Amino acid sequence: MKITFKGCNPSNYRKGREFPINWICLHFTANNGDTAQNNADYFAREVVEASAHYFVDPNEIYQSVKDSDTAWHCGRERGGSYYNDCRNANSIGIEMCSVIRNGVYVIPEETMKRAAKLTRELMAKYRVPISRVCRHYDVTHKDCPEPWVRNPQLWEKFLAMLTEKEDEELVKSKKVLLNGKAYDCECIDKNDVNYIKMRSLQQAGFNVVYDAIRQQPSITAPQSRTFVPDCTAEVQEAVDILRENVGLEQQTIEYLRRYQWGDELVKKIAKAVK
Ligand SMILES: [Zn+2]
Repeated sequence: MKITFKGCNPSNYRKGREFPINWICLHFTANNGDTAQNNADYFAREVVEASAHYFVDPNEIYQSVKDSDTAWHCGRERGGSYYNDCRNANSIGIEMCSVIRNGVYVIPEETMKRAAKLTRELMAKYRVPISRVCRHYDVTHKDCPEPWVRNPQLWEKFLAMLTEKEDEELVKSKKVLLNGKAYDCECIDKNDVNYIKMRSLQQAGFNVVYDAIRQQPSITAPQSRTFVPDCTAEVQEAVDILRENVGLEQQTIEYLRRYQWGDELVKKIAKAVK
């Protein structure tokens, strides 16, 4: 994922680490509509003796402090206590930008998703288990991220996002018979429903395109028309003859008309019958 680096003011963090990365700690900025870039710029410019490794908004991520350096994001305030083993020295701090809606802080869904994706990557990179992903609240009982303290279900939802299978992991190559021949197709089996990638149909001769006129994806079996128009008077007459004189059923007529040169075929057969 794309992460832009904008170095933090050196007075706001400590170079290097005393302990390996064991924790990932989530925060919120307590702002209204700030961006990751706003925050990165602010911490680069001002001396505030506080920092975070990452800032996340609905559109992007900025890194302000290198993972190998110690950001000051979850230290003890005013002689408060620690409630778990997460410390500045052994953790990565992620700040999520917030908005105020109806008078309360909200962390937008997109920000949450982006932060979850970043957290997953960091968990994999530093082998941090989900049991050591925490809120700032879990370290010092600070009201942070406030929406997840007020509503712990949102925090649970975030944790669930960290273990959800990603779509890429669900895609499997399977042999599927298409028009009677076996092909390796990309398939997804989700909640007992089988999905097949549209493009996999192409190898069996299906024509898969986006129909710009009708603004719909179009899948056409080999030698079928991409679109079957209503009968012209001439074709309708031929169809009536085949139905009445040959006893062709509606299904058969439709099958013939889907065929690439179906209308010509119908007209020729009708002419021969007559
Ligand atoms: Zn915090």
